[in-house]
Amino acid sequence: MGLTRCSSHYKQHCSVEMEVVEAPLTESRMAARVAGRRGAARHHVLLIVSLFSFTLLYIASRVDWSSIQACPPGDRGTVDKDIKGFEKASSPTIDTQEDKLLGGLLSSDFDEQSCVSRYQSTLYRNASPFLPSSYLVARLRAYESLHKRCGPDTPLYKKSIAQLQSNRSVGNLECNYMVWTPYNGMGNRMLTIVSAFLYALLTDRVLLIQVTGESVDLFCEPFPGTSWVLPSDFPIKDMSSNHRNSPMTYGNMIKNKVINLSADTSTEWVPSYVYVYLVDDYKHFDGHFFCEDDQLFLNKVNWIVQQSDIYFVPSFFLWTQYRDELQQLFPAKDAVFHHLGRYLFHPTNSIWGLVTRYYDSYLAQAKERIGLQIRTFDWPYISFEEFYKQIILCSMEEELLPVITDEERLPLSKSRNVVRPKAVLVVSLYGRYYEMIKSMYYEYPTANGEVISVDQPTHEEKQRTEQNGHNQKALAEIYLLSLVDVLVTSPFSTFGYVSQGLGGLKPWILLPPWHEKAPDPPCRRALSMEPCFLDPFYFDCRAKKNVDPVSLERYIRHCEDKVQAIKLVD
Ligand code: GDP
Repeated sequence: MGLTRCSSHYKQHCSVEMEVVEAPLTESRMAARVAGRRGAARHHVLLIVSLFSFTLLYIASRVDWSSIQACPPGDRGTVDKDIKGFEKASSPTIDTQEDKLLGGLLSSDFDEQSCVSRYQSTLYRNASPFLPSSYLVARLRAYESLHKRCGPDTPLYKKSIAQLQSNRSVGNLECNYMVWTPYNGMGNRMLTIVSAFLYALLTDRVLLIQVTGESVDLFCEPFPGTSWVLPSDFPIKDMSSNHRNSPMTYGNMIKNKVINLSADTSTEWVPSYVYVYLVDDYKHFDGHFFCEDDQLFLNKVNWIVQQSDIYFVPSFFLWTQYRDELQQLFPAKDAVFHHLGRYLFHPTNSIWGLVTRYYDSYLAQAKERIGLQIRTFDWPYISFEEFYKQIILCSMEEELLPVITDEERLPLSKSRNVVRPKAVLVVSLYGRYYEMIKSMYYEYPTANGEVISVDQPTHEEKQRTEQNGHNQKALAEIYLLSLVDVLVTSPFSTFGYVSQGLGGLKPWILLPPWHEKAPDPPCRRALSMEPCFLDPFYFDCRAKKNVDPVSLERYIRHCEDKVQAIKLVD
């Protein structure tokens, strides 16, 4: 049946299917893979994919996929208390004695009940191999006092607001600010909050975030005794519009020569605020934000309002003025997002409820948890079938998931062994990948006898960033992915980057398609758990020429999923 669907596009795939029919998969053929003969292994995995695709193409022709609904969390019964108790005793991840404050990263000055996730996440996550440096801890405590002094409704905040309403910055204000505005999906937002926070830390600013309707009730307050939420009476009113063409955008100000970096510092005019536009389509003049001389100017601006969707932290490592500071803050260069993300992002109690209900129901009892983050974009295009094949090839070739066989070997013993499954957490906007993987492990035994459970929390089918409920689920899933032991992520996806960073995981990154086909190899292990800065600035402002940032700093490398992009590695 599947063969009748072959077009020239799928010719290679179909010919493998023919081979399956003629030569079924046997134990000895599997053994070749175990013996490490990678070429043979690949062949066998392809056979498996094809064997299963054959069945599923048949199924697909009969199933209305849109009618398949995954049960919402909570619909599948509660966890047996005794089993959970056993897990508690045996699993290292459920140790209440673990360091709740993450090695001093978190302040102890919070009411625990107001934000349960802040102190409970250690019960669900694998312990981090990275301790924050004592310098980072000290800087965070100092930042918290600054934020308390300058936060909303304080006299110093009011003074700075008065200055904002004049049209120039002054040099003697105690409180200067970095205002973060939302742009794009949850992953993008979390990356840009961390970028804004580290920028604020380096430049002695206070971070305030604009919380609009779709993003209420996502995160707890990260700084004790104050708020990071920008008050609703903040006087700049057009912050939600696109800043690319605004006259207050820093890049436009330089382009239009409204500000002059080489002016005499005693007479120069410094605006009371500027927009910094760092969305992925930023232009050359916007990119001047990354130039050190421009930073000297920006340091004099009392209010910076950021609109961005990129993780621009790696560029800070190119600034000589902050080199020593960054070295002390982050002796391990690939743990920047890991520490700052764990410091800043604590899901509210309602989202923590989603996370823990799902975890306790579907992941807690597993002997190992594998997260598959499956995200597709309109460009570069890859079909469902090709991407599915790529995911399975990656998972099986890298031995993250067991291969299947067509030989049923049922145990003959009279007593029933309780087996702990390997749990696969599928996170995707769509339900089809989950259906395929679940059916594969239901319809075929695994060659090594492992039991595989597969589940997916939601499949929203469409990105709806403007809806609060949708964003809450997205955040819960980002968080759930960060709790797994092994992670596979999709290329260019900030959703995946955040999960890997929070989880301290070096994922296997699925590589971008090659001419709409699954690439070879299908995936690559990440060099570091740091997110990728997808759109770096390739210009050396002092030398006035293009330069690859990788040539400037040994801690910076090209990303696995995008060769022009950069990331921090240790
Ligand atoms: P990116 O586009 O992959 O870089 O990640 P973003 O998080 O910035 O934007 C994608 C948005 O689409 C998410 O924030 C969600 O709103 C939605 N989305 C994408 N994938 C998933 C998923 O697997 N689960 C859920 N619940 N939402 C998703």
